[in-house]
Amino acid sequence: MKQFQFSYNDNDDLKTTLTNIRQWCSSSITSHIVFQIYTETIDNELISEICSVIAAELPDAEYLGCSTNGNIINGEFSGSAVNIICTIFEYPTSKVEIFQYALTAQTENKVMRNFLKEIEKRPWIKAIELLTTIRGMSMTDFCDILSTVRPDIHIFGGGAFSSDINDVHACVFSKKSGISDSGVVFILMGGDDFHAATTYIAGWKPLGKTFHVTSSEGSLLHTLDDQPAYEVYSRYLNIDINADFFFNTLEFPFFYHHNGIDILRAPTACLEDGTLVMTSDMEENVSARLAYGDPDTIIESVYNEGKVIRDFLPEVIKIYSCAARRTFWGNAEVSKESQPFCNIAPTSGFYTSGEFLRTEGNVNQHNVTMVVAGMREGGTGSRRMPEFEVSKSGFTGKVSLISRLASYINAAFDELEKVAVTDGLTKLYNRAEIQRRIEERFASGQHFSLIMLDIDNFKSVNDFYGHDEGDTVIIGVADLLRTGIAGHIPEASVGRWGGEEFMFLLPFDLDYAKRTAANIIRDFNAIEFPNAGHQTLSIGISEAREDDTIDKLLIRVDKALYDAKRTGKNKYMIL
Ligand code: GH3
Ligand code: MG
Ligand code: MG
Repeated sequence: MKQFQFSYNDNDDLKTTLTNIRQWCSSSITSHIVFQIYTETIDNELISEICSVIAAELPDAEYLGCSTNGNIINGEFSGSAVNIICTIFEYPTSKVEIFQYALTAQTENKVMRNFLKEIEKRPWIKAIELLTTIRGMSMTDFCDILSTVRPDIHIFGGGAFSSDINDVHACVFSKKSGISDSGVVFILMGGDDFHAATTYIAGWKPLGKTFHVTSSEGSLLHTLDDQPAYEVYSRYLNIDINADFFFNTLEFPFFYHHNGIDILRAPTACLEDGTLVMTSDMEENVSARLAYGDPDTIIESVYNEGKVIRDFLPEVIKIYSCAARRTFWGNAEVSKESQPFCNIAPTSGFYTSGEFLRTEGNVNQHNVTMVVAGMREGGTGSRRMPEFEVSKSGFTGKVSLISRLASYINAAFDELEKVAVTDGLTKLYNRAEIQRRIEERFASGQHFSLIMLDIDNFKSVNDFYGHDEGDTVIIGVADLLRTGIAGHIPEASVGRWGGEEFMFLLPFDLDYAKRTAANIIRDFNAIEFPNAGHQTLSIGISEAREDDTIDKLLIRVDKALYDAKRTGKNKYMIL
């Protein structure tokens, strides 16, 4: 593979460059020539003109492109409005085909089904690069359908954008189908000697408290922890709703786990009711945290993923980087995260409104992320390539103040969260937490039993030996429960229900619960307390049934315990 990357200045200049390319091609073996045109300005006349110059000078070449939020050539933010990347496939076995479809929310499903059929007909495909318009359209279905193509096909690409991030206009175009303001262009690449490798870099790290997405619809994030989603930005980050909202929040997108990987989502606007309009869909009932960007942390991620791409020994590298990253770094510094790639292979790409990448089978739309794809023809053979390096003035040997503060906040939050769910005396879960866990288990529909314990005649322990000895006995029960099964079975939880009462959630049936209860009674009897000597406890057991409610279950287990007390104590009863 060979690449020519250049800025467009005027048609004469373009013709000269194309002549040089044509001359290079005539003295080499080429199988496909593909021009990718990235333009910050949406000027259909200019786009058409550039396309017709290419068509006239190199009639056999393919061309395609899209509008962008800035272009990357030779690994750097280009600064010029239009950039052209000419990729030359040299192996006769390599295949390239380009498809363009109109894409709207209504036609999406049909279009994608047709496209899947085309893919099935082409077993040679190894990579699909895509350029697509996005604004105002949820891309979740698009991604889900694309996820069904042959699992060995790499899929990567970017969302078309414009130089103004508040502008909804964007376009894609190709030789076959012209310019479209709502469409997708796919570049199918493959053949025996074509190879691709992909990865993504975020570098943003989660920060502080975990929020629960309690209400959302597509890209509308209504509530977090039942509060208007916007309040997270006002309360924790002191960000007001004003013209700068978008810029201010870009540095603090949401971080959540989806399809087995970490994904970032940034708000683009805030509605009157506090709903946040996100860059892409965020589903309900997921946990999300704010994330922060820190230059040193980001460069470290670039280094880690860069090494992966380097080891693939690519001949060309494509970068699809989120416009938010350009805002975060500023034009003067943004190239720090793309330039290192150009030391190993010609690197080009653009700033997007959504980065697409297939990972572990699933195609995901990312935000605030940088998708990197390496491609080559032929084996790695004796190809030599420098090691991947990032600027030494960055993270090496130095942790930034931001990163230290973030780690302080995270540690403090973890401690607070632990305190909030822990009982002070016994260090078991407190009542609210064990109750929450019971509710969670119940809602999951999975089987479980409850064991409720109460120390016998405990009032007299206090009365005879004093309150401190009473505490020691309570702690004795807690230690026994903690070191017993609760410590070994991850889904088991045990908490202090009240004074000298405990609740044990066991992810097993009654039979197992019975044996556990018998062991607890036996082991507790065996303990000798300093003053109180040997003590006993009583146990109620019940298991969750079909058509149960939590209240019914709790009443049953409480009644079972009462039965054990009533019929002599130091025993268990089942209801
Ligand atoms: P039964 O066998 O029927 O359970 O009788 P009991 O005496 O254990 O039950 P009762 O509910 O009458 O007494 C419970 C006592 O537990 C009363 C309360 O003062 C004591 N208690 C509650 N919390 C604590 C605590 O944290 N420390 C101590 N030392 N005592 C506590
Ligand atoms: Mg008691
Ligand atoms: Mg009691």
